Amino acid sequence: MPLIYVGGTPGVGKTTVAKEVARKLGIKYVNLAELAVSEGLVTGYDAERKAHIIDEEAVKRRLRKLASEESAVVDTHVATAVPSELVDVAVVLRLDPRELKKRLEARDYPPAKVMENVQAEILDSCLIEAVETFGVERTFEIDTTGKSTKQVVEEILRVVKERKGSKPGSVNWLEKLGDDAYRLLRDGEAQP
Ligand code: ADP
Ligand code: MG
Repeated sequence: MPLIYVGGTPGVGKTTVAKEVARKLGIKYVNLAELAVSEGLVTGYDAERKAHIIDEEAVKRRLRKLASEESAVVDTHVATAVPSELVDVAVVLRLDPRELKKRLEARDYPPAKVMENVQAEILDSCLIEAVETFGVERTFEIDTTGKSTKQVVEEILRVVKERKGSKPGSVNWLEKLGDDAYRLLRDGEAQP
């Protein structure tokens, strides 16, 4: 049974949206980090990032077993932990880095972790990893900036059902933000 990958930088809205997509499709929702931790599919703990390090090979085996029984929406920013051959479509959510920064600060992320994720979003890290893992044909990206959960869910359902949507390369924060992008990368602030 196929998997639907929902990826993107932490804070872009994966969990909010992926749960609703799974509900609408009547299939299972899998939060990869929670699955890995609850089943001990981890290799260690990164104290600096306050995050578990997932055992990608063990997680892939677990997802293959799951997919042998049912379809699922998989929510994770780690594309390389998802068995590529099982993925029907991969959707990477994007969010204006200035908005992402506000959301991560509201979540009380330490400043270094906010910066790391804002930089990753500006530089397309999750998109690149998804394209490398799943290939450009199956990968789509959705700019969620200013959109409601409902709108984003509908866009994902369209991608799943019709294979239509924005392709990798349609979001370009460097172009949209101009000098603000460089200020964010350099200083973590968009204002001069
Ligand atoms: P992720 O799983 O990618 O880390 P979450 O789904 O936890 O992201 O969302 C991060 C924060 O952003 C939450 O506070 C959530 O309520 C909020 N959020 C998610 N989607 C939207 C949206 N479309 N518009 C505004 N806020 C959103
Ligand atoms: Mg989440």
